[in-house]
Amino acid sequence: MTDTFEAKGMRKKLVDELRRKGISDEDVLSAVGTVPRHLFMDPAFLSHAYVDKAFPLTSGQTISQPYTVAFQTSLLKVRKRDKILEIGTGSGYQAAILAVMGARVFTIERHRDLFYKAQQTLESIGYSADFFFGDGYEGKPQYGPFDGIVITAAAPEVPLKLLQQLKAGGRMVVPVGSSNSQIMTLVEKTGDDTFEYTSHGNFVFVPMLKGIGNVK
Ligand code: SAH
Repeated sequence: MTDTFEAKGMRKKLVDELRRKGISDEDVLSAVGTVPRHLFMDPAFLSHAYVDKAFPLTSGQTISQPYTVAFQTSLLKVRKRDKILEIGTGSGYQAAILAVMGARVFTIERHRDLFYKAQQTLESIGYSADFFFGDGYEGKPQYGPFDGIVITAAAPEVPLKLLQQLKAGGRMVVPVGSSNSQIMTLVEKTGDDTFEYTSHGNFVFVPMLKGIGNVK
């Protein structure tokens, strides 16, 4: 399956909708207008790809709502060539948005089938990212420190090992809370050992689980 004029038209409308909902970072909006989201979902669901809703993937996981992806990406303040670590590759859509924005993307997934599938999807479209199968709680210290870390699953608390992998001046965006509802939290590393926390509204993500495997 490839990109189509129809899909491009639908993306343009989605971008307008995100703008109306308050997304103002032009680089993020341009990335949403560029990445063919329908290629990250089952081909039968083209009509669902460009409505602003989350959608089920295999393995009981979900591709985040476009608004949520755009919101998290805006909080990250991505600059070209930034090193960004993503926890929870899922479909690979968020990784593709970051890649299109010029970031060097490192992404970790604990579900083996999603890890393989996302890698294939990005490769087939021609986006580049480094994919890892493993437990995101461990991060990737050997590739750090990172300018930004985005967690796309609900964390019970800010994972400390990941904070340690942030550059001074770096930003982590993480939904923190129970399984029912989380607060989008921005952690800015202001100095070698100082962090500033701010809250950015309520969201609902699938849980960030410990270890690897296919257990929901
Ligand atoms: N960013 C994705 C959406 C992710 S849904 C996208 O753009 O499509 C959350 C993902 O986090 C799921 O695929 C889930 O398997 C994964 N996940 C949950 N806990 C994890 C962990 N500890 N390490 C890595 N991935 C994890």
